[in-house]
Amino acid sequence: MSEPSIFTRILTGDIPGEILLETERVFALRDINPQAPMHLLVIPKTEQYRDVTELAVGDPGLLAEMVAAAKRLADEHANGEYRLIFNNGAGAGQSVFHVHAHVLGDIEENKLVGF
Ligand code: 5GP
Repeated sequence: MSEPSIFTRILTGDIPGEILLETERVFALRDINPQAPMHLLVIPKTEQYRDVTELAVGDPGLLAEMVAAAKRLADEHANGEYRLIFNNGAGAGQSVFHVHAHVLGDIEENKLVGF
């Protein structure tokens, strides 16, 4: 067995972190290094999928739950509008290989970040 991901360690309380939303299958955190006024992460509780490509094939319903959670968070923490980013592979900026969606909001005009 590989080590639990940083996100799983937060979920289980092994390391500190504020969980903003939790359902049976997903949870959400604030990104530790925010790139927008609202920058949250939506994460499936399972570590089975490394990225959204694997998730979309393996459990499209879980991907839909992540999108629904992103919308709830945008309603609660921004104006209901949000940008959803999945980095796929180290060359595309992915650093944690436990699939997660970046949920960005309250972005100033002409200040879209790419990361
Ligand atoms: P990736 O680069 O894999 O798409 O995104 C990983 C994200 O996790 C990064 O934006 C990074 O700032 C965030 N992150 C890394 N370590 C922690 C942590 O310990 N706590 C939180 N809340 N976010 C983290």
